Amino acid sequence: MRRWIPIMIAAMVALAAAPPATAGTASGTVTGTVTGTVTGTVTGTASGTTRGAAAGTTTGTASKAVDCARVKCIALTFDDGPGRYTGKLLDLLRRHRTKVTFFLIGERVEKYPAIARKIAREGHQIGVHTFTHPHLPTLLDDQIRDELGRTKDVIRKVTGKEPDLMRPPYGDTDERVGAIAAELGMSQILWNASSRDWELRDTDAIARRVLSLAKRDRVVLMHDIWPQTVAAMPRILKTLEKRGYHVVPVTSLLRGRHLAPGEVYPVGGWN
Ligand SMILES: [Zn+2]
Repeated sequence: MRRWIPIMIAAMVALAAAPPATAGTASGTVTGTVTGTVTGTVTGTASGTTRGAAAGTTTGTASKAVDCARVKCIALTFDDGPGRYTGKLLDLLRRHRTKVTFFLIGERVEKYPAIARKIAREGHQIGVHTFTHPHLPTLLDDQIRDELGRTKDVIRKVTGKEPDLMRPPYGDTDERVGAIAAELGMSQILWNASSRDWELRDTDAIARRVLSLAKRDRVVLMHDIWPQTVAAMPRILKTLEKRGYHVVPVTSLLRGRHLAPGEVYPVGGWN
């Protein structure tokens, strides 16, 4: 699949930016301890959720510390919003006392500022998903800078939180994109379990696929712009809870380690 090419490049970027211990885990779960020091400063304020091992100490209701070294964690991530169904998802997440990560599109934050504010207020983690959802490696440097920077600015303006994470649309990244993300103080978040909700568009199929891919420390890609995805969430959350999972914002999986600007996480897996 052509998907592997950007991932390989992304992995190389990550290796350049990060300690070597993250290499070699092809399964998608980054296990083992990361040795060495993470260089680079973590800029900005945490995007509404967690810093450090006490992941889950959030500003939202019902904060509880989740230590993913001790309990089974999984990160659910939602791209392309905010949208019409995001509010319903937020209500469900609140009932389950669950925090997730949202990668927001700049022009949609402008369209739905109240929902973006609600995401932040309820303690979810927010990352940048560009302003117009392009394939970033096809753009000129200044265009990449603009896509990421404008989105970061609008998120900060609307929510008061400064994102330090970005997810490239389609998982498409390369060395140039990584360097510009680093310049803007953002690390790059990919995934290692895809709901494929955009092609399934079927509540039952989405729930079954996500649950079949659920493994400890996986990062699941979903999209809150599809009603079927939001409709699948009650079953997904209930089943994950029954299996003993704690659903967490993506950086909680790092057990307190901070990603360097430009670094790619997770590395090496694709489902
Ligand atoms: Zn997207």
